[in-house]
Amino acid sequence: MARVEVRDDLSALEGYHSPQVDVAVRLNTNDSPFAPPEAFRLALAELTRDIDWNRYPDRGAARLREAIASLHGVDAANVFAANGSNEVLQTLLLTFAGPGRRVVSFEPTYQLHGHIARLTGATVVEVERADDFALDVEAAVGAVTTHQPHVTFLCSPNNPTGLVETPDTVRRLAGVVPGLLVVDEAYGQFADWSADELVNEDGNVVVVRTFSKTWSMAAARLGYLIGPRWLVSELDKVVLPYHLDAFKQAAGVLAVGFRAEMEERVAAVVSERERVSSRLRGLPVRAYPSGANFVLFRPTDRSGHDTWRGLLDLGVLVRDCSGWPRLADCLRVTIGTNDENDAFLRALEEVLT
Ligand SMILES: *Cc1c(COP(=O)(O)O)cnc(C)c1O
Repeated sequence: MARVEVRDDLSALEGYHSPQVDVAVRLNTNDSPFAPPEAFRLALAELTRDIDWNRYPDRGAARLREAIASLHGVDAANVFAANGSNEVLQTLLLTFAGPGRRVVSFEPTYQLHGHIARLTGATVVEVERADDFALDVEAAVGAVTTHQPHVTFLCSPNNPTGLVETPDTVRRLAGVVPGLLVVDEAYGQFADWSADELVNEDGNVVVVRTFSKTWSMAAARLGYLIGPRWLVSELDKVVLPYHLDAFKQAAGVLAVGFRAEMEERVAAVVSERERVSSRLRGLPVRAYPSGANFVLFRPTDRSGHDTWRGLLDLGVLVRDCSGWPRLADCLRVTIGTNDENDAFLRALEEVLT
């Protein structure tokens, strides 16, 4: 029997690749090297026992939205939560992108912005950053004025470069985009500024966050958005009913009560990021400044892919970005524990010298 053909517009698309290799030191996916606090694990086990497994969960996830709202000083009606921030992005794009609409991204950036936009049938306009990956604000303003996108993505700190946009840049773009300005702050807590202060009822800014990178909860798949109420109501119409299971809702509410512990973990990662960055300056690599929990670097005397292979042979896995557009020879290392970072630095020194 002939196989049914996939949609014409999807047949050329590639999936999202992030190899899960089993090695001693895994520094390739930007998740947290620290387990959640023991008290969190114990309390969550207790809560699990009380879940009414035979019943559908709270469809509106009211307690979870309230808990998240309290983190940002907004109303629960300004919060939309989903299965990882990737589902937040997907729901946004199903609601505001789609056939005949345009989505702008500033490249290189998070691949899934463009990928999910294409899955909805939208046209993606990739706007180039400068050679050092900085955003030229006037060029960005020119691009959105020309292309009139329904959705413009700004990732800050940017994945995979680590660059943080200034408040002035975000404000200037928010003032000129004709549609939504989606600020993806998956790494927001590692930086010293958040665009959440630009979200208001009459505005076009939405901020997307995740529990995967800072809250030691990548396994739980929980992300959210802060935005105007009208927008949250529209997303609620599009997302599948009961998409957030009862366990995840309980885990999210509980996690918010451990904010101080989360901030300690973030501070530890930031301090290690500075240590790793300064050690990289003594090696034959160009390291890019980062406000996130990873550092992008490019070996100067050796190919990126050979360096990646060499590190892997020594039991250290980093992200190989060397074959990605605009990122020739670049590798991205996630900041791990003190020991993991030492193992990475030792291995890199061995491979490069
Ligand atoms: C990791 C990441 C996400 C997705 O995280 P989830 O685990 O789906 O919450 C979204 N945006 C950026 C920029 C990321 O790096």
